Amino acid sequence: MITALIKSPRKAADLIRAGGLIAFPTETVFGLGVDATNDEAVRKLFDAKGRPSSNPLIVHIADASRWSDAAATLTPSAEALLFEFAPGPLTVVLPKRTEVSTLVTAGLNTVGLRVPSHPIAAEILHVAGRPVAAPSANLSGRPSGTRWRSVLEDLDGRIDAIFQQDGHSLGVESTVVDCTGDVATVLRCGAVTTEQIQRVLPDAREIAGKSHCGAYEGVRSPGTMHPHYQPRAKVKLIDSPTSVEVAEGARVAYCGLLPIKKQDALVASAVFDTLDDYAAAFYEFLREADRHEATIIYVQYAPDHGIGHALRDRQLRAAGER
Ligand code: AMP
Ligand code: MG
Repeated sequence: MITALIKSPRKAADLIRAGGLIAFPTETVFGLGVDATNDEAVRKLFDAKGRPSSNPLIVHIADASRWSDAAATLTPSAEALLFEFAPGPLTVVLPKRTEVSTLVTAGLNTVGLRVPSHPIAAEILHVAGRPVAAPSANLSGRPSGTRWRSVLEDLDGRIDAIFQQDGHSLGVESTVVDCTGDVATVLRCGAVTTEQIQRVLPDAREIAGKSHCGAYEGVRSPGTMHPHYQPRAKVKLIDSPTSVEVAEGARVAYCGLLPIKKQDALVASAVFDTLDDYAAAFYEFLREADRHEATIIYVQYAPDHGIGHALRDRQLRAAGER
């Protein structure tokens, strides 16, 4: 398969309607979209990513008012959250509508629903006029793609087209909230913080009840059980760059908020002024370190506030710790 580089939302929408696999930018990370009602296209998507079939896909719609394209009912908690945060980096889990492929939901009777705010994603969805299942556009297990060239690096020849445009991305995926029960439960922390959710739903809680969410959510959010966000190099979390140790022959990479001293073994480094910048660039830095054939990546563990909460979760997973 030849992967086309495209710049037209209409072209992207037409390809999706025809059963194609199209990577496009969203405000979180690049998504890899297919028609959520087309079993064959969904099967091709799991193959292209090498994604385990037990990991359900988030379904994207153009507007919150179209929730019934994918969900059977809109619960009061989901309605309240969508009113506040849609369009934006939030996914609500609701009872599934039968028309959505069961491959999309990995056999679950629920569906994750999101309304992206990125103008290109929004236009593609609007023109496609149907629900679009879209996981992150990367090979399963690798860091998510936040630049089109990184998407190409993983998926060239495996998908039909990539939307050739970079823009600002938040750099961590959407917050996934289970809205099917009496109490809304954050299954995956993300760009919308738990505090923001609790301002709308004071009873809402995180599933793990730990300093980072994701520790025990396997059963309810299957995707979080699989290895994720991992570069080829070993990732080691540290509190300060003074903890960086250089072994004989090591090629070292470092990213964080505190500066690191220049040294011969350092093949890639990135220091960020703000936590938002750190989150936005984190996945791309892991890929950059791989391009420089780093053997070890020292990652300064993000502080636990704002988007740092979600970034810490991704950092732990990149390091293979759960
Ligand atoms: P990704 O596509 O890599 O952003 O991952 C999607 C995330 O959403 C994974 O953590 C999934 O487990 C989660 N997810 C999608 N659909 C559901 C659902 N119906 N119930 C619970 N979690 C879901
Ligand atoms: Mg992913």
